[in-house]
Amino acid sequence: MSENLNPFNIAQEQLDIAAEIMNLDEPAHAILREPMQTLSMNLPVKMRDGSTEVFEGFRVHYNTARGPAKGGIRFHPKEDINTVKALAAWMTWKCSLANIPFGGGKGGVICDTKKMNEYELENLSRAYIRGLHGFVGPKVDVMAPDVYTNPQIMAWMMDEYSKIAGHDEFGVITGKPVEVWGSEGRFDSTALGGMYILREAAKLQKIDLKTAKIAIQGFGNAGGFAFELAKKLGAKVVAISDSSGGVYSDSGLDYNKLLDAKKQSGELSGVKGVTKISNEELLELDVDVLIPAALENQITEGNADRIKAKMVLELANGPVTPGADRILFERKIPDYPDFLVNSGGVIVSYFEWVQNTQNWYWTEDDVYKKLEGIMVRSFKDVVDMKKRYADAKKSISYRTSAYIIAVDRVAKAMKLRGWY
Ligand code: GLU
Repeated sequence: MSENLNPFNIAQEQLDIAAEIMNLDEPAHAILREPMQTLSMNLPVKMRDGSTEVFEGFRVHYNTARGPAKGGIRFHPKEDINTVKALAAWMTWKCSLANIPFGGGKGGVICDTKKMNEYELENLSRAYIRGLHGFVGPKVDVMAPDVYTNPQIMAWMMDEYSKIAGHDEFGVITGKPVEVWGSEGRFDSTALGGMYILREAAKLQKIDLKTAKIAIQGFGNAGGFAFELAKKLGAKVVAISDSSGGVYSDSGLDYNKLLDAKKQSGELSGVKGVTKISNEELLELDVDVLIPAALENQITEGNADRIKAKMVLELANGPVTPGADRILFERKIPDYPDFLVNSGGVIVSYFEWVQNTQNWYWTEDDVYKKLEGIMVRSFKDVVDMKKRYADAKKSISYRTSAYIIAVDRVAKAMKLRGWY
């Protein structure tokens, strides 16, 4: 039987595994297997040529026991409700593991931003907010960027929400440009948070980053910045890819050359003087650290046997399936889970929301120090929980360890609030 790649079924299966090991209360398990609320919308948008197109959009509140829903909005041609539900579940675990006062949510619109101009993107962003203004808000659901959305889109969305509210509400959305009260340090915070985990994990696995080779799948907000930051740790990035394919150089790649090629042709595959590889080949390279930083379901039962990296660091959401999890675990390749590794983005989003709420703004240095503190503490929590189970003769993965911590916090909040 082929592997089930429905992201929401995957999120449920991951929860089920943790629930069994931690003996989660049955009602808590039942509540946490499904989102609390799901909104589905048809959004008419005026296009540049005068026509009207109708886009399908979603927003999911997965769980709000620990605070307002929190999570990004994706614009993607292959978006669907099951992916949004899974991403909203993962946001719940991400905020809980980081121990920030939010629940989990996520949104998405089925659209191809590469085929849209700025006028159409702005109209779509505003239509999305008009569709859900009663469903979001600084104390209800705080949105943010994700795949193919960016700070400009956040600014339009904040503006549309504020117009409907009749006053400015900067705290309705995070990841805004700093000129409209985004936070310093938000733009590269996902990658930076991931690099703090890379540093800690490398220490634990005894990988010397000064001689390490790294492969990164994805050249977006997470993968692109991770490239630069990994180099600062002394590591050599030998391969990177975007949706058009990847490039490889055993002596290490030059970030500026890649950026130029991307600017000129829109694709990494236009770079000269390097070996071209496919996204699949990138995953199977003989490197020290593999960082999937693109989309979900990249390491599956189909290729987990061929992964040669000494460790995997999930900077994307959901890149490793449960089938692949089992194979990597058996092969003793440590895999640090998405909602630990990529939590830097939402942690700085939280800082942004705090600053918007207090109207008191921090320096970049303040942000980075606080981010590092939370990332290192979360990493330690996950390592300690895994060790506690090992001491009790139960061997669990880093993912399951992180789930146990995150789910326990949400379940306790639900119990104390009298939800079950
Ligand atoms: N989209 C990012 C994530 O998946 C950030 C979410 C946020 O800042 O709310 O973690």
